Amino acid sequence: MLKDGKVKESLPLTRLRETIVMYAAHIPSEIMLVSNLSENGATPLIWSIDKNSSISHVMMENSVLHIIKKWRQYDLLKQSEACGILMGERRGEYLRVTHISEPLATDYRRPNFYQRSISGHQQILDFLHKSSEGQIQYLGEWHTHPQNMASPSIVDYQEWAKTTALQQFCQTQLIFFIAGITDDWLGVIDHQVLYRGTLLTE
Ligand SMILES: [Zn+2]
Repeated sequence: MLKDGKVKESLPLTRLRETIVMYAAHIPSEIMLVSNLSENGATPLIWSIDKNSSISHVMMENSVLHIIKKWRQYDLLKQSEACGILMGERRGEYLRVTHISEPLATDYRRPNFYQRSISGHQQILDFLHKSSEGQIQYLGEWHTHPQNMASPSIVDYQEWAKTTALQQFCQTQLIFFIAGITDDWLGVIDHQVLYRGTLLTE
């Protein structure tokens, strides 16, 4: 159910070097240090967030993307939307997604609708939070869309506004990620204002 970094992606060393050089051109040195913490050597994806947000970058570990990949709606409406929560570390202006929860039997899922249950996902978060001594925290939500290039629906904006108006989230930042078939969408809601993320590299 939950893959805590056990899915390893191996990247040939030369390719890794090229990617790092490419990254270095775009990314401040502090974030390079943070992204070097990846245990498996695979490079995370990095989004820069609008400069008006207090979050400058969001990193998503390769192991997380590997899990999301298997839920992408390649068969469009023959598949149901998948959803879960994003978890990881808050490091100042950087958010680093290291873990996600996957769809559970208690979620309500349809080809273009989902309603995530709270209980099972919350238990996963509680377990990771405790076992990491508080380092791994709730960072936001992810779901899939039956679209090549994912973009939020009206319902998504409404749901996110409701979530980020809650007392525990209205003064912080949460990530909202939608996995399309070829292109994803990522935004950060910071103190109830939505900022779009821009993917730095492929
Ligand atoms: Zn949606």
